[in-house]
Amino acid sequence: LDPVPSDIAISRAQKPKPISTVAAELGIHTNELELFGHYKAKVAPSIIDRLDNRENGKYVLVAGITPTPLGEGKSTTTMGIVQALTAHLGKASVANVRQPSMGPTFGVKGGAAGGGYAQVIPMDEFNMHLTGDIHAISAANNLLAAAIDTRMFHESTQKKDTTFYNRLVPKKKGSRTFTESMLKRLEKLAISKSNPDDLTTEEISKFARLNIDPDTITIKRVVDVNDRMLRQVTVGQAATEKGLTRSTGFDITVASELMAILALSRDLKDMRRRVGNMVVAANKAGEPITAEDVGCAGAVTALLKDAIKPNLMQSLEGTPVMVHAGPFANISIGASSVIADRVALKLMGRPKNSAADVESGYVVTEAGFDFTMGGERFFNIKCRSSGLTPDTVVLVATVRALKLHGGAPDVKPGQSLPAEYTQENVDLVAKGAANLCKQISNAKQFGVPVVVAINKFESDTDAEVETIQKAAKEAGAYDAVATNHWAEGGKGAVELAKAVVKASKQPTDFKFLYDTEQSVEQKLSAIVQKMYGGAEVEISPLAQRKIDMYKQQGFANLPICIAKTQYSLSHDPSLKNVPTGFKFPIRDVRASIGAGYLYALAAEIQTIPGLSTYAGYMNVEVDEDGEIEGLF
Ligand code: ADP
Repeated sequence: LDPVPSDIAISRAQKPKPISTVAAELGIHTNELELFGHYKAKVAPSIIDRLDNRENGKYVLVAGITPTPLGEGKSTTTMGIVQALTAHLGKASVANVRQPSMGPTFGVKGGAAGGGYAQVIPMDEFNMHLTGDIHAISAANNLLAAAIDTRMFHESTQKKDTTFYNRLVPKKKGSRTFTESMLKRLEKLAISKSNPDDLTTEEISKFARLNIDPDTITIKRVVDVNDRMLRQVTVGQAATEKGLTRSTGFDITVASELMAILALSRDLKDMRRRVGNMVVAANKAGEPITAEDVGCAGAVTALLKDAIKPNLMQSLEGTPVMVHAGPFANISIGASSVIADRVALKLMGRPKNSAADVESGYVVTEAGFDFTMGGERFFNIKCRSSGLTPDTVVLVATVRALKLHGGAPDVKPGQSLPAEYTQENVDLVAKGAANLCKQISNAKQFGVPVVVAINKFESDTDAEVETIQKAAKEAGAYDAVATNHWAEGGKGAVELAKAVVKASKQPTDFKFLYDTEQSVEQKLSAIVQKMYGGAEVEISPLAQRKIDMYKQQGFANLPICIAKTQYSLSHDPSLKNVPTGFKFPIRDVRASIGAGYLYALAAEIQTIPGLSTYAGYMNVEVDEDGEIEGLF
């Protein structure tokens, strides 16, 4: 339609297929499907084992150039490609996307279902609650946080080691046994005894008390709301807590380590291991204390046993979409789950030893933020966890973002665009194309072909689009194709989808950017110099102390996630296009040991956003029939 209606109006105008139909079309068996209403279902990870006799399908990563604050259309392009592949080219495909957090949905950004005629539907169910995975993560995280504070309370109120031990490992029906976690803790302490009555007094003291240093606790409580007042809180103020007050705070649920663990786990066993390995604090001797030590890892994993199953939905044109996990893209990996990718790749795979003309289907997934963030972590962290490597990268570019890099004035959400953006200006596009070229070379460093998707906006001209195509091909892109899925749905992305199909048949020469065995400093330099184009890394004294501590604790061999702005290749959002020669500051380094990476902070990152005066929630209404208005 012209003009294109609002996202919710488009979503509502389309009647989705029953999700059991979508599942049957994918070859999912009834016993592998758990329905949540009519249009959502969970799928069983056991599909991976059932389809062990298949190869993996083709794996396509959608990533972006350095964007404007308006977003350049990675989610819409992901939907556009699968709609084109399946509804228009007759090829099997699945889109794998993240579950949106309700923080941004009711904040400034709005939902994350894509937009226009390239969306996940029903978009209200997608943007709110889904099947409860985020709620499960909040519950699991908050249980862990409560377990830590409670343990400190009991250790401080029960002064005698043996009394404390007797309460920690109580006699039941006359005898006592260690729990799984306790046995693991004994192993860690090299106490090779399995009968609780056999421990010496010295061993009892060593085993029972964690002696957590309250200043080192890294687990905060979480909530999936942009509730800025919770950034810093004091707990333990009731008289019953005997003065054990402590300053802590809340994170938004999607910023939690458990969300990253959900995204990176290969299966339930791997998730249990990762949860147990989470370092939640240090003891007074500076040694790491884990969720296993606290005795909480089994219960935390139990709370996540359904969340680990990917959710199935559909696009506006009825193609399958798996929605799973949603780690915060700034301090975490910003990609959907390894399990969903593994399930979808098997569903899209052809039988092993198929004849050459038997085609595989496609799994198209998205990396949050720009390529230097989501893309780099997708390869160096997610691919390391999954053992999977993509066949093609689709790099989403827009005329408007390249104009910004070429020197046009800043743009802000909710404000009208300056004239440079609404009138043809080939010069600005040509100058700003340097950013696209750098991001193409960034993606090519991983040895995978790159297709540039030029997401078309109404005011773009042919000359501007051709300028981008020429620059992209000169920079080594396999192809560069204009795409109009936002206004036309899958039909508008047919040429892009054809380019993706061709690129996915090209040979790849996959390589990581760095080796995890390198030192933390070398890994940081590799990312800053090879990806961002910086001259060197400047490590603050605090960050250096933390690096040295992680080395000592045996955590130096992990990949690294750098938290920086997505609005520049560098750490400074005002440095547009392709800045060079900058010194990249590392202010602090933290660890997500369970998830399996260290993260370095180039800036102060808010781990629970705020809400604006005129926030998204103000638009939302629901009528007496339950129809929702105002989600966008
Ligand atoms: P990203 O995933 O890169 O953040 P999205 O796909 O969410 O970007 O798109 C950002 C916003 O821009 C969405 O509101 C989307 O509907 C809108 N949008 C995307 N592509 C177009 C387009 N070609 N024309 C108009 N609006 C678009």
